[in-house]
Amino acid sequence: MKEDFYEILGVSKSASAADIKKAYRKKALQYHPDKNPGDAKAEEMFKKSAEAYEVLSDPNKKAKYDQFGHAAFEGGGFGGGGMNMDDIFSQFGDIFGSAFGGGGFSGFGGFGGGGQRRVKGSNLRIRVKLTLEEIANGVEKKVKVRRKIQAEGVTYKTCSTCNGRGQVTKIQNTILGRMQTAATCNTCGGSGQVLDGKPGDADAQGLKISEETVSINIPAGVEEGMQLKVPGKGNDAPGNGIPGDLLVAIETQEHETLKREGDNLHYDLYISISDAILGTSKEIDAVGGKVRIKLEPGIQSGKILRLRGKGISSLNGYGSGDLLVHVNVWTPKELSKEQKEFFERMQGNENFEPKPEKSDKSFFEKVKDMFS
Ligand SMILES: [Zn+2]
Repeated sequence: MKEDFYEILGVSKSASAADIKKAYRKKALQYHPDKNPGDAKAEEMFKKSAEAYEVLSDPNKKAKYDQFGHAAFEGGGFGGGGMNMDDIFSQFGDIFGSAFGGGGFSGFGGFGGGGQRRVKGSNLRIRVKLTLEEIANGVEKKVKVRRKIQAEGVTYKTCSTCNGRGQVTKIQNTILGRMQTAATCNTCGGSGQVLDGKPGDADAQGLKISEETVSINIPAGVEEGMQLKVPGKGNDAPGNGIPGDLLVAIETQEHETLKREGDNLHYDLYISISDAILGTSKEIDAVGGKVRIKLEPGIQSGKILRLRGKGISSLNGYGSGDLLVHVNVWTPKELSKEQKEFFERMQGNENFEPKPEKSDKSFFEKVKDMFS
């Protein structure tokens, strides 16, 4: 059972945004890795507080959490979820303000002390094209990725520009007097180390291309343009850095007969006048195979049949959309002599006169219902 986000931060459910921020700042400073070197419990609390704050500081996520609890963020790589130290510093670094000297954080997951920081490798981006069937139920995709990894046999030495500190201090004369500022070392990019020796197949940073198969879990209900993150599957960073992420852009393939609208699917069914009069059963397309539906005798053109739960599983994990079958009665243009004579006799016939009932909603009412 996951702990309550409000309890983790020690605030009430009615706490204001400012109170939540204040509470998080207090926890973050209390459990900051620089203050608790090597303390796994403190690190855990530091991460938990950040996770709680990530949700409670975002009005949309907070509303979802208030309504659904932790379940609101399960079943997908979106929002919530675990955070690593780099996420925390890059997202909420400013909240610590000047408490740690304004020179940034020495930790960055490395707890190395001094001014060193672990450099993060660059992110890789790929696109994945999904069919409606794959989106409907979620899918695991295996993709080949060419990522840069550390070449074997690469050696490093301490950066001579910063003497391994990762930072350089500058003394500037300003109208306010002499000012000392710290900046990330340009030579080593902040890692404190530079390349010493490397094998022939490595690039200038000691990296080489490697082709890997990465499996990506795609949750049901994703949409065109969404982006998933696979942590650590981007390029390696040189030296003791941490790898970047693999960013996966979702593309969707159009289905031949089914149209998606949110979590609902729409299908246009055409039936003959005789089928409409006598009733019939028809096979229609649905995600995951064909479905047979029954049409009652006397079914009206424009009727929408709703197959509950036969749509797309919703991204937040709560239920599925419906499959809406639009019934269209096909009017023949060519008739034999006998057929024509028969319908001529029916013109003006009592049974053939339109008698819409109150329950036969107009097209506009049906559309209105569907979106309400
Ligand atoms: Zn350096």
